[in-house]
Amino acid sequence: MTEFIYLLENNSLFFYGFVFILSLMIGSFLNVVIYRFPKMMEQGWYLECREFLADELKDVPAKITAPLTLSTPDSTCPHCQHKIRFYENIPVLSWLALKGKCSQCKKSISARYPLVEISTALISLLVAQHFGVTSLTCYALLLTWGLVALTMIDFDHMLLPDQIVLPLLWLGLFVNLNNGIVPLEDAVIGAIAGYGSLYIVFWLFKLATGKEGMGFGDFKLFALFGAWVGWQLLPLLILMASVVGAFIGISLMVFKSHQKGQAIPFGPYLAIAGWITLLWGEQIWSWYLQQIL
Ligand SMILES: [Zn+2]
Repeated sequence: MTEFIYLLENNSLFFYGFVFILSLMIGSFLNVVIYRFPKMMEQGWYLECREFLADELKDVPAKITAPLTLSTPDSTCPHCQHKIRFYENIPVLSWLALKGKCSQCKKSISARYPLVEISTALISLLVAQHFGVTSLTCYALLLTWGLVALTMIDFDHMLLPDQIVLPLLWLGLFVNLNNGIVPLEDAVIGAIAGYGSLYIVFWLFKLATGKEGMGFGDFKLFALFGAWVGWQLLPLLILMASVVGAFIGISLMVFKSHQKGQAIPFGPYLAIAGWITLLWGEQIWSWYLQQIL
């Protein structure tokens, strides 16, 4: 173990290579989380509803016989149920080797899988480069991987699962317990201010228009970033989330995959802007203040 850490500290190629390979494999696991976790949540709600309405539903047969988990059943092709073997599941390489097609039925496998893997690996390299061989890199990588899952799940389902958001919020407070990134005081106020500010905006917007512009998951995600980067950078984060949102919103409209007026989740923009703030928030903020003052 000490030799391993010695290598990480003294051989940057080994350090980046290790982070890259590990993150590719994590990216592959995140694909499973992104695909299965929302389904697992739905199954959970279904079973809870059945339990709650037990008397009324006692004659209705249950739809779920074997609940889904992250590890069972094995991954299969959604078209032909062909079991995906381990050598067909090597991040990026397998997809390239199979030319993006199932080995059995030849139906195409979405390019999203290798893209999630390679993006996870690349942004993980940026985290490693930013924090170096420190425990902060480990924590920031956990956050980064969680944010990849949250971004895609919110994009697909308009859901930000508490089971992913809340542990990462607590992790932010833990990291700053000994002033890891910002003083603990800033982190605690950040978490409260993050949740509180969007909560107030939510109610004002609802009173004014009768519509709900955000979900409670967005408040928690903003609180998460408050815990990580401190309250001082939250205004920058919101500003950048709007810029990222406008950018992605326009590109989606250009590519016609989204219609005007169709609801677009806010979580992905918050997650992307928050991640950028974690790495370069201080520099961007001082640059921005110089421009407007
Ligand atoms: Zn197939």
